[in-house]
Order: sequence, then C-alpha cells, then structure tokens
Amino acid sequence: PAVDPNRVLEEARQAGVRFVILRFTDILGAPKGVTIPLEDLPEAIETGKWFDGSAIEGFARVAESDLYLKPDLSTFTILPWTRGQGTTAHVICWVVNRRGERFAGDPRAVLARVMERAARMGYTYVVSPELEFYLFRAEGERFAPAPHDEIGYFDLATDLAYRVRCEMVETLRALGIPAGPGHHEISPGQHEIDFQPADALRMADYLVTARLVIKHIAQAHGLHATFMPKPLEGRAGSGMHTHQSLLRREDGGNAFADPEDDYGLSPLAKAFLAGQIAHARGMCAVLCPLVNSYKRLLGGFEAPPYVSWARINRSALIRIPAIKPGRYQSTRIELRSIDPACNPYLAFAAMLAAGLDGIERRLPLPPPVEEELFPMEAAELEARGIQRLPATLGEALEALEADEVIQEALGPLAAERFLEAKRLEWEAYCRHVSAWEIERYFHVY
Ligand code: GLN
Ligand code: MG
Ligand code: MG
Ligand code: MG
Repeated sequence: PAVDPNRVLEEARQAGVRFVILRFTDILGAPKGVTIPLEDLPEAIETGKWFDGSAIEGFARVAESDLYLKPDLSTFTILPWTRGQGTTAHVICWVVNRRGERFAGDPRAVLARVMERAARMGYTYVVSPELEFYLFRAEGERFAPAPHDEIGYFDLATDLAYRVRCEMVETLRALGIPAGPGHHEISPGQHEIDFQPADALRMADYLVTARLVIKHIAQAHGLHATFMPKPLEGRAGSGMHTHQSLLRREDGGNAFADPEDDYGLSPLAKAFLAGQIAHARGMCAVLCPLVNSYKRLLGGFEAPPYVSWARINRSALIRIPAIKPGRYQSTRIELRSIDPACNPYLAFAAMLAAGLDGIERRLPLPPPVEEELFPMEAAELEARGIQRLPATLGEALEALEADEVIQEALGPLAAERFLEAKRLEWEAYCRHVSAWEIERYFHVY
C-alpha cells in the first residue's frame, strides 16, 4: 500500500525531526546517503534529490550521470539515538533518471524487478538470514588481529561483547528491524545475529542498515566489527546462511510446505531448490563477492565447498531444516554459501532468479547427499555428478559470465558493472606479491 506523504511529513514534524538521510547503495552494497533538512523533503518526494551518479561505484555512465533519489516512504524511520539533538530520520530511496524511471544500476531496482516477476507468478520471496561477524579489539590506530574473548558456540558470558551484542539487537529492533536472537559463534570473537523472516526487498534494506549499526556500536565500545568472510586463517569464517521460502500471494500460505513429503517439501520447493543447485556456481560471485570469500569455502568450519543439498549434513550447500509438527508455515530451505560481505539486493535477486528458473524449467532435483563430503575422492564426486563451488573469485567470475540466467537477473548494466569491478579486484590480487610468498620462497630459491 502506498504511504501518504503528508502523513509522513506531519509525523516527522511532530516528532521534531530536523534532518533526513536519503539512502541508497552502490553496486558493491556499500551504504551511501545525503542528508537534507526536513524542509527539503517535500521537494525530494516530488521531484527527487539530484546527485552525481558518475561518482558512485558501479553507477558511472557519462550519459546517465544525472540521477535522482526518490524516497520510498514506507522505509522512513527516525534514528532513536539522535532524538533531541538534531533529530534525524533515514529513508531508503529509489534511484531514478531524469525521466523518473528506475535506474538499472541501482541494486534495489534489480531486486525489485525479480521480486515483481515472482509476484506475477503468484509468490512473495521471504528470507531470514543469520548474520555472522567478528568483533576485534581496536588498539590505538591499528586493529590487533586478535579476538577480544576466548569463548565459543552458544557460550554465555557477562563480558563486554555480550553487552555490546545485546545493544546491537536492541538498537536494530528500535529501528523496526526484526533482529534477534543473537549468540556467540564457534570461534573466539565471533558472533551471530539472526533476523526474523521478511520479504527479500525489506530484508536487504534491513541488512545494509544492520551492518552499519553493528559497526557503529562496536566502534562506540572500542571494538571493530568485521563482516569479512575469513578474517583469521585456521578459524571459522563468517557466513550469512539464508533461510528462504515462497509464500502464496493469495492467502499468505507457505508454498514450500508439504507435510506428506519425506523432506516436508512441495514439488514447487523442490524445483526451486533444483534451480539454486543448477545456478550455485553461476551465482557464487554475487553471493560470495570477495577474494577472501573463497578462503571460507575451501572446506571445514561448516562452510560448503560442494554443490549439494541435505537435511542434516552441515557441509551441504543447501540444508532442509526439520519442521516441528504443525509448524509447516515455517518450511524453508537454507542456503549456506552466501556470506555477509555480499550486496544483499544483488544476492537475493540472483538467488530468487535461480529458484524461479528451476520452477519455470521444472528442473529435476538431484538426490540429497547426507554423508560427509570432504573425504570423498574426486572420482567419486565426479561419478555422482557433484560439483565444487568455485575455488577462487576468478573462477566464480567465469562461472557468472557463463550463466545467462544470473546475468539476466542483474540486468545488463548491473551485470557489466559488477563484473568489471570484480575483475579489477581479482587482477589486483593476482598481481600482488604477498608476505606468504616472500616467507616461503625468498630464501629457498
Ligand atoms: N561460520 C559458518 C560458515 O561460515 C557457519 C557456522 C554455523 O552457523 N553453523 O558458514
Ligand atoms: Mg545460526
Ligand atoms: Mg552460525
Ligand atoms: Mg544456519
């Protein structure tokens, strides 16, 4: 339902809002924004707020450098911590061109387009991510690569990190973001905050805000929060497992649920799952976008190196969580490759397009793989048709270039800009002579 601009303006005035941050994200998912006084909001609503698109990563296009921010007023939220001192609200914007059309390089527009396709098929794509991250101690100018604590999975502690994590959850909830529960992850200094299910566009908005809030709160306590997928060699990486389902638009029912089925999954869910298996390699660069992402996916620490699905096996790419009797509405599939450095708009767009492709082409589902995959011989994997996920960002970019469905999900402009930015990143990495190489080779050769 459309939000009445007058109502938003009136409420903002009554709450004493002075400033509004007009927000959007670049192609890499970095938060961007411009702050305007509340008096200028009506004009921004009316005609959009001008900005120079050529200065934004992935937006650059000489012909399209004049872009405008059009507030999506359904996202208008007061930032509680600014109350009373220049009270500030933020609002997520659509990026539009001078003709008022959504800009194809705006990641939010990319996801909206795929969501609209799902809507025409009768479904809403609902996701629930588990956001993992590390907290490090900030020491003067430098960040000591040492976690701030020495505890593990589900450990309770009355230490600083525990209080900081509670404050993070509380702040997110005050912003209307359905965050929590939170818990300590398996490695020292590693944490997780889970999000209750929401439609993917909302959730992508929430995640970009959440990453910002989590970093700010860590900083206020002298800690550094990082969503880098593998900050420490030999320790668990940080993933962003995402639980997904399609809800029927007509009655809100879960279209993935079939209590009669062995796995509790409907034929629709199985086709969706088959689509994500088929495009697992092609969408990997979008879901796991950093050079560093691939160090998490090499095997171990419950991160998936292979393309497979299962109920129990935690090295599976897609896991089917068990559903309690009578709770069929929460039927879902959990994708485990995606990591917290991704641009959530592009990632959810790719994941949804992969699933819809499975539905449209009625792709058959390969058998589940319940046993541990690591010890399997390459020959056995090959015989059973089990593929590896890309081992490097370079390989992932090749897989994306070969996947028409995922490129189409991003659209030509965003796909081209994303590939361009990521190829440069991969090349820079390949050229770099690292400390590891010096240590290993300098004296021996
Ligand atoms: N940290 C693991 C990963 O990289 C996940 C651990 C878990 O939540 N089971 O995906
Ligand atoms: Mg979890
Ligand atoms: Mg976890
Ligand atoms: Mg999980």
